[in-house]
Parts: sequence; structure tokens; C-alpha cells
Amino acid sequence: MTYYRAVLQCVAGCPGDHAIWTPTYRCPHCGNLLQVVHDLDALRGRSAADWMRLFDERFKRTAWPRGSGVWGKREWVCPDIRDENLVSTGEGGSQLFRAERYGSELGLDDLWIKLCGNSHTGSFKDLGMTVLVSVVKQMMADGAYVRAVACASTGDTSASLAAYAAVAGIPAIVILPRARVSPTQLAQPMANGALVLALDTDFDGCMAIVQRLAAEEGVYLANSMNSLRLEGQKTLSIEIVQQFDWQVPDLIIVPGGNLGNISAIGAGFSVMQNLGLVTKRPRLVVAQAASANPLYLAYRNNWTFQPVTARPTLASAIQIGNPVSVGKAIRVLQRYDGLVEQATEHELADAAARADRTGTFNCPHTGVALAALEKLVARGELRRSDRVIVISTASGLKFPDFKIAYHTRALPDITPRYANPPVDVPNDYDAVRGAIDRLVRGSKSTIDG
Ligand SMILES: *Cc1c(COP(=O)(O)O)cnc(C)c1O
Ligand SMILES: [Zn+2]
Repeated sequence: MTYYRAVLQCVAGCPGDHAIWTPTYRCPHCGNLLQVVHDLDALRGRSAADWMRLFDERFKRTAWPRGSGVWGKREWVCPDIRDENLVSTGEGGSQLFRAERYGSELGLDDLWIKLCGNSHTGSFKDLGMTVLVSVVKQMMADGAYVRAVACASTGDTSASLAAYAAVAGIPAIVILPRARVSPTQLAQPMANGALVLALDTDFDGCMAIVQRLAAEEGVYLANSMNSLRLEGQKTLSIEIVQQFDWQVPDLIIVPGGNLGNISAIGAGFSVMQNLGLVTKRPRLVVAQAASANPLYLAYRNNWTFQPVTARPTLASAIQIGNPVSVGKAIRVLQRYDGLVEQATEHELADAAARADRTGTFNCPHTGVALAALEKLVARGELRRSDRVIVISTASGLKFPDFKIAYHTRALPDITPRYANPPVDVPNDYDAVRGAIDRLVRGSKSTIDG
């Protein structure tokens, strides 16, 4: 296993390797982010056909933990982690939902939704957190001093960190902006026993504090500037191709905030291409909320990026004005004929609800991606036969307030097109029958006219 090798290097190309077992998050020379670089020559020692066979043999099988969508590809993710340090909850392997009815409404014959929210903590963040927490476990086993793992977050990152840390028995600290935290967002880290600190500041204030804790207090930083998470997340694009028997789709749409996920998707395609598993490149699309759209503005301005002040959005996990991974994301989009689309609150809520009517249950972030898809179709960017994948990043079950407010017409400034509120009916058979006759399409009274 140690035959394969991965190290951290500066994304801007400064010389020098850094061991992934040292808590280093930025290049000591220029301050840029680091990235995990694999020894591709060693990986080329196995043929593309052999890699595909190996990954297929492991995929969703019972041999723990190789049945995990991430650890089944461990040689490409984090080659020198020892089995006893793997902290896995069976992440990855989420199903591709064949969006047949929604697709045919839009005029697409080959539309799929990758349900990454069907995961241990209900979001795709588990794909990366399993790698980060496993590395921390191995560092500690080898004698490194780590007091706790910590992140600043209001949502899915804190839930995922708290769960994986609890599985491993490592203390976790979650730092949240007090006024912006809903009960749903608090429930998971509280339940998993993380130390939840609610600070009287915003997300950026929390981020500044957690970075200082990492520098001064022996706390290991789990925010997405830590590039280990991207190594697990990149299995997302590998897994999609694998689920189509190693055929590359035409287009992938993903909602983007800090832009780690799109960077990781690009990294997954690059390694598959470098090792000869695929030749075709898909088009990659990032969908942003119009309230937090710095990448969209950059796309419209020849990729000249400027941070913005993000305004509140229903898609709270992507309310980010100055994304950490913007440089990586722009490089990926330039390479993959990429484009960026945006969605208003109204558009994301209606798109999520419209697709829900065909049997899915979409979170608001997935709603942003679906609204972007509808715009691409309306603009004629897609052919009917194109194979299109929408990345659903979280489970809709984590966002009950959003669903209920939409269907009861309680979302401010939004007139929902697909609201389906419950109907109050007295405890009386004729009243129930009357309501059905009035309200159910195709019922007797409707047919009779
Ligand atoms: C984190 C997150 C995103 C955004 O991912 P980035 O890598 O920050 O772009 C989108 N949707 C959900 C549900 C998330 O938790
Ligand atoms: Zn550097």
C-alpha cells in the first residue's frame, strides 16, 4: 500500500512537499492553499482496465471499509492510511435517481439526480470528512498532539465533523454565529456530543477565531481550506462515471458556495483522464444563489473575481461571498468548458418544488441547481439526448422549515407556483367526499364538468 504516495503542495507551484500528517493548511512561502498531489507514475503501474475492475469489485460490497464509495478508491484518495485508522460510516455509493418525469417535462431524455444527501449525516460533506478525520486519527495514533478537531460552520460541515469525530472518539468543537443558527442546524452537533460554541459574530468572525485556535492551541482545522476533504469529495465524479459503467456524462450541474465540491469534481475527472480510464470531458456547471453569486459575476466578467457581501438565501449552505476555493474552481471550469448560472429565491424554491412533484425531495441548494438546469434548457444549451447529472448536495429532510413554508405560502416575497397546502376538513364523511370531489383532478365532479 505504501507503494503509492501522496503529499501536499502549494497550488501556486512553490517548491517543496509537505506531509499530509502535519497540520499545514497554507503554503508557508506564499500563503496560498495547498493541494494533495499523488504519485501518478506509481498509479500508472496498474492499467486503466485493472483500476476499473478493482473499483468495481469493491463497490458497495460487504468487506468493510472498502464497500465505502470513498475507501473503495483509497489508493487515489489517501494511500498510506492504515486500516485501523479508517473512520467510515459507509459514505458514498449514493444512488443515481433517474429523473424520468421531470426530465420529460423539461425535454430531456437522460436526466439523473445524484443523491449525495442520502448519506450518514445527510449531506455530501461526509465524503470529505471521512478522509480528514481518518488522517487525524492516524496522526494521533502516531503520537501527534491534537486536542480537538474544529470548524466554523452553520450547517452541514459541523454536522459531519461532529458525527465522524464521535465515531472516532476524538473531541470536536463547532463554532457558530449565534444569531444565524436554527434549531435544525444545531441538532446534529449537539446530539453527537460536539462542544458547540455560539459566538456573537458572523461566519467570518467564527472563521477568524477557529484559524487562530488552529495556529495556537493544538486544534486541527476541519474547514474546507483543509485540502484533505477534497480528496474524498473527488470520488463523487469517479463514482458517477463508475455508475454508468465508466461512461462519461455530457454535463454535470452542482450548487456552489465555497467551491470545494466543484474543484473536487474536476480533480476526479483529471485523475481518471491521467490514468487513462476516460478520454471524454463533461461540461461542468456551477449554480449559485443570486444572493451569493461572486463566481457568477466573475464568469460574466472574463473570470475576473471579486468577493461580494453575500445576502441571506434559503440555500443557506452556499451563502458565501468570498469562497476559499475560487482559484481552483475557475481553473476547473476553464478546463471543462464550464459555465456558471444563478437562481433567485423564487426560482430555486419553485424548481425544487416542481421536481418534488415528480417524486424527489429536494433541499434548497439542489433547488438552485435545478433552476439553473431549467435556464440552460430554456436557452437551448442542451440537446434532448444529452446525459445530464444534477448533484443533490443534501437531503431535503434536513430542511423541513423550507418545505412547509413553501407549501403554506409563508415564504416572504415568494408566490409559490406549486404550493400544496393541507386542507382542513371537518370530521364528517360527506365533507371529506366533497373535498375530494372538489380538489382531486380526474375525480367524478371534475370529469362530469
Ligand atoms: C457545503 C454545501 C454546498 C456547497 O459546497 P461547496 O464545496 O462549498 O461549494 C452545497 N450544498 C450543500 C447542502 C452544502 O452543505
Ligand atoms: Zn506557495
